[in-house]
Amino acid sequence: MHVRNKKGHIGVSDMVELNLLGQNKMTDDKHVKVLVLGAGPAGLSAALYAARAELAPVVLTGMQLGGQAALTHLIENYPGFPEGVGGAQLGELFQKQAEHFGAKVEFDMAHEVDFSQRPYKVTTDSGEYTADTVIISTGASSVHLNVPGEEELTGRGVSYCATCDGWFFKDKKVAIVGGGDSAFEEALFITRYASSVTLIHRRDEFRAGAILQKRAQEHPKMNFITNTIVTDIVGTDKLEHLKLKNVVTGEESTFETDGLFIFIGHTPNTQMFEGKLEMSDLGYLKVNDKMETSVPGVYAAGEAADPNFRQVVTSAGMGAAAAIQATRYLESLEEESVHS
Ligand code: NAP
Repeated sequence: MHVRNKKGHIGVSDMVELNLLGQNKMTDDKHVKVLVLGAGPAGLSAALYAARAELAPVVLTGMQLGGQAALTHLIENYPGFPEGVGGAQLGELFQKQAEHFGAKVEFDMAHEVDFSQRPYKVTTDSGEYTADTVIISTGASSVHLNVPGEEELTGRGVSYCATCDGWFFKDKKVAIVGGGDSAFEEALFITRYASSVTLIHRRDEFRAGAILQKRAQEHPKMNFITNTIVTDIVGTDKLEHLKLKNVVTGEESTFETDGLFIFIGHTPNTQMFEGKLEMSDLGYLKVNDKMETSVPGVYAAGEAADPNFRQVVTSAGMGAAAAIQATRYLESLEEESVHS
């Protein structure tokens, strides 16, 4: 069963609900020509291209329909949207376009893959798929600080998603950790709600782009604490304060805050492929310029394979390239079978 929102598309919250309820069970094991793992910009773009090649792709959403982009309040650098577009809205548009050409989006989670022989096997929450080609677009997840109190207070003041939780901090004090684009972009978003937003960064230079830095530095609600790390997140039922340490002077201090948002980068969701596909030391899947992994017929696209660019537009491009290459591969298999 699929739950659909007013526009007829599956929303992120619906997806979570479905997963929790364990619905959407497959009754029979299925064979597909193209199986796409992950429904972010890379996966849904791959599905669009594979669907237009009449390959009837199936996309398994995993935990996050729309990928991390769906958690971004406003995407201002995806071409074609001069005023920007909501991350969740863009995900819905990607989904709608892929489905329009025949892609199927399933709320299902892959757990195990077997690429040792064709057709490839993918075991999911609801059964098993076999596939002639697999496109991996499982994305990446937020890195945690790994300091005392972080796990216990997640959801009680500590968060990794401004779009999901920013609203809870209306007229409250919020701290952000990180110095990259995510930290600045999300800090600016939270200024809509919070009374003040303090960005805490471990160095005195930021990685974030110049436009975001300028916007944040000029914002009356924004403050900056540099050369400083969070050593402890303290609270009982809810976050009460942070313990900070200046990495230059060694000075320790306490910072009272209602909320803490952590944006210190991402790690690729590729654990399932360990020992099965070649990957870098950091866990990114290795692909060549055709998005081919170390196994023929298995492709990777988006943040699972991209430590460098990690943009919606580059992930979408990688997804399209993977699907084009999968199409060529399937054609070559067909030709082989005709001539053998
Ligand atoms: P990022 O660029 O890797 O930045 C991570 C930030 O967290 C860095 O400032 C880093 O500090 C800090 N950090 C890392 N580990 C830390 C730790 N243990 N304790 C404290 N601080 C820590 O990650 P991101 O901001 O998530 O961006 C990821 C990619 O997505 C980038 O390529 C970015 O350009 C892109 N992105 C783009 C947009 C946009 O274009 N609008 C929006 C969001 C993200 P150091 O600087 O000292 O290493």
